[in-house]
Amino acid sequence: MRRFSPARSIRLMPKVVIIGGGIAGLSLAAELAGQAEVVVLEREAHPGMHATGRSAALFVENYGNSAIRTLNRASRSGLQPYLKQRGVLFVASAEEQDALDGHLAESAGMVEISVQKALGHFPILNGARFSRAAYEEDASDIDVDALMGQHRRSLRASVGRIATRTEVIALSPSRNGWDVVTADRTYRADIVVNAAGAWADEVAQLAGITPLGLTPLRRSAAILPAPGGHDVSRWPMALSASETWYAKPEAGRLMVSPAEEDPVAPMDAWPDDMVLAEGLDRYAQAVTEPVTRVERSWAGLRTFAPDRTPVLGWGASGFFWCAGQGGYGVQTSPEMARLAAQAILHDSDLPAELDVARFLN
Ligand SMILES: Cc1cc2nc3c(=O)[nH]c(=O)nc-3n(C[C@H](O)[C@H](O)[C@H](O)COP(=O)(O)OP(=O)(O)OC[C@H]3O[C@@H](n4cnc5c(N)ncnc54)[C@H](O)[C@@H]3O)c2cc1C
Repeated sequence: MRRFSPARSIRLMPKVVIIGGGIAGLSLAAELAGQAEVVVLEREAHPGMHATGRSAALFVENYGNSAIRTLNRASRSGLQPYLKQRGVLFVASAEEQDALDGHLAESAGMVEISVQKALGHFPILNGARFSRAAYEEDASDIDVDALMGQHRRSLRASVGRIATRTEVIALSPSRNGWDVVTADRTYRADIVVNAAGAWADEVAQLAGITPLGLTPLRRSAAILPAPGGHDVSRWPMALSASETWYAKPEAGRLMVSPAEEDPVAPMDAWPDDMVLAEGLDRYAQAVTEPVTRVERSWAGLRTFAPDRTPVLGWGASGFFWCAGQGGYGVQTSPEMARLAAQAILHDSDLPAELDVARFLN
């Protein structure tokens, strides 16, 4: 598969076109800056308008399968300047004991605490509904805007750039690379990176490459006024052990999510009113303050590969996948970008559990 053709290996700066200006595309662009001529092509007017701009912006080391936890751990230092300690509190009803035990068994740095202590962290919990709780102190908010801003500055400081309002509509192999076609012009690339989020399978098809079976799963969220007039700023994120709702302070208010995973086509997602209402009801039953008003709501797509593990690697000569980040794409972005850049620039091997080769014959 791909790797450097002799003609390309003697060129100092390979031309890399990255399709998608979310966190996946921009973090890789920043990682490649100065070592490749990078252009990011983004269909929307601004980078980060889809999944990246709609996330809960949390770093939880003990979230995701073991491959993702490895990425989380390796990403922490790169995210450090953008992290602010928040904490995450898991609460378990009688039916959620196994789920809580599962979290505790697989986690480092998460400790079981009493329900009484959980109430100290998140005072509006309905203590009568929960029999156990666990707390991960190191979970943090990620300042996604600042992180994206830094990536943009790194790219601008090199010879790289982002072209917004630029949709890739065709991809065809050319001598030692690819022609990347947009409405206005054709970009010549040694290497194309598919960082198109929910649309990554569609982009692969433009290139005549077999899609991976990525599934965009919708997840919605609502902003509620601070419950009962509480100062929520220092509360942790609270979530049910079986992830049927979560609530997180957000600029003096609470962001509440039904934590749904509804498969949809790639799209500019919006919440399903019924799903949101049912999720808010699950949250309302878990707390002692009523839901009085929804200030605003939104939905985004968490896009998963069939094994729920992100995908990096060569899908064809000069065509590199960076997709399937699921619900972890912000918190895993530093290590994903580092691994991708090493593979693109130096032909380094990728961890087998991330390598797209696992889906190819
Ligand atoms: C409600 C919610 C909560 C989440 N919470 C967290 C969290 O707490 N922590 C965490 O780490 N992750 C979280 N995530 C997941 C995280 O947001 C994603 O994994 C991550 O943003 C994916 O980034 P991306 O760059 O792959 O995709 P995107 O941000 O969607 O970027 C892909 C870009 O590709 C562009 N594109 C597509 N096709 C084309 C084309 N043909 N031409 C040009 N451009 C194209 C799109 O316009 C888009 O901007 C959450 C997601 C949601 C929805």
